[in-house]
Amino acid sequence: MATTTILDTVSPRKPARLAIPQTVRGRYRTIKTVVAAILLTFYFVTPWIRWDRGPQLPDQAVLFDLPGRRLFLFGLEFWPQDLPIAVGVLILGAFGLFGATTLAGRVWCGFTCPQTVWTDLFFTIERLCERLFGKDTLLSNVAKAIVQVTLAIATAIGFAAYFNDALTFPHALVTGAAPMGAYIAVGVLTLTTWLFAAYAKERVCLHMCPWPRFQAALLDKDSLVVTYQRWRGEPRGKKKVPLRSTLTDLSALVREASSFDAGRGDCIDCQRCVNVCPTGIDIRDGLQMGCIGCGLCIDACDDVMARIGRPAGLIRFDVEGSDSAGSFQKPTVRFLRPKTLLYAILCLVALGSSVFGTLRMKSVLVDIDPQRGQPFVQLSDGSVRNDFSFRLAHRLPTLDRIAIHAEGLPGATLRFADAQTGHEAVHLAVPGNRRISDRLFITAAPRRGPSGRTNIRIVVTNAANGATLEEVETYFWGPAR
Ligand code: SF4
Ligand code: SF4
Repeated sequence: MATTTILDTVSPRKPARLAIPQTVRGRYRTIKTVVAAILLTFYFVTPWIRWDRGPQLPDQAVLFDLPGRRLFLFGLEFWPQDLPIAVGVLILGAFGLFGATTLAGRVWCGFTCPQTVWTDLFFTIERLCERLFGKDTLLSNVAKAIVQVTLAIATAIGFAAYFNDALTFPHALVTGAAPMGAYIAVGVLTLTTWLFAAYAKERVCLHMCPWPRFQAALLDKDSLVVTYQRWRGEPRGKKKVPLRSTLTDLSALVREASSFDAGRGDCIDCQRCVNVCPTGIDIRDGLQMGCIGCGLCIDACDDVMARIGRPAGLIRFDVEGSDSAGSFQKPTVRFLRPKTLLYAILCLVALGSSVFGTLRMKSVLVDIDPQRGQPFVQLSDGSVRNDFSFRLAHRLPTLDRIAIHAEGLPGATLRFADAQTGHEAVHLAVPGNRRISDRLFITAAPRRGPSGRTNIRIVVTNAANGATLEEVETYFWGPAR
């Protein structure tokens, strides 16, 4: 399949390129602002949402509980054993991104990438400080530094709040009660946020991010990408006579545009599209790796076109292979094509697998492993004991007490480490944090133990209703006879 041409370099920086992109108003600027507001709100607010899971369990709706090796996501609880579900979600995200890029270029980069959102926010801070305190003044630079570092710290704490109790974490940080790891994490995140969003800015998109290198393989002639309409823009240059069209009929506009003489292309070379571009490129040089598809140059140029009385769309999202290419007509996008269908199918498969995996998650997980070292202990009364490590984790709404017995070893007794005597079935209370870890001793009665190794089954039931929670196959060792 033919792919669209992307310059593998970015156009050299124009002298007119400003350190801070100029502000612009328009449709894409509004979309960018709304999307950024939603994402930032989501990022900073999510850890503060509460979710009642009962006593002794965290009430934070989204919490990466690293010590407990589990992720709480509202009503769900994920364990390391659920990794395939996470893989499904990652595959869904990857193919979703491929599909979005094939359809509409780098919309992810232009509107939702954290680097774009934070850099945009930091640019806004810089503009605001310059407006308040003047350009390149000491006061302005100090104000910029203070606000940006504060925002970087807030970003770092916001991220760390996903791994700690958000309600108490900031206070613990300030009072010195947080663990050393928390200070290191917040310090590193503050530094990287400031480095990427306040210092490196567009350099991350231009030189560090690998994604632009992939886009050439994903785009094709039907992809919607930001395009300068060379056919109507060139030859560019300042206009001596204002171009004021009173025509509303599209074909009349086309005729008027095509009747211009060689000195009257629509581009007045005002550099506005370059000066609003967050990566500082000149889209008139053609689609290039530095273009993040944010559409701000479209807003800027549409405004210029309105001022000089020419139709909007000298820069626009366009489809190279569309019938409308090289005309004023809006491009038609072929959404259904082999590549996009393939991505859609792969997304559905990944989504289906993740949902299926989530619905089929085991609610109770029991590990019973023979202790390392000596396989059995011969007691003075002739009985034989095997030691096991016992671990149980569950995510049932309630489970107060479990009962355990062994099958395949008639007359055997069981006991946990703190019990003095064994029984055929033992009970164990399950604490509110839904995890137990203990040592389990299984003892075969004198002269009834097996010779060598024999397979046994340990059955774990809910003591409240007798429902079987788990059956674990393991083995029991006795002296060879
Ligand atoms: S904003 Fe439009 S008119 Fe101005 S330089 Fe860019 S393409 Fe030309
Ligand atoms: S060229 Fe236009 S669409 Fe591309 S990054 Fe610059 S402003 Fe955004």
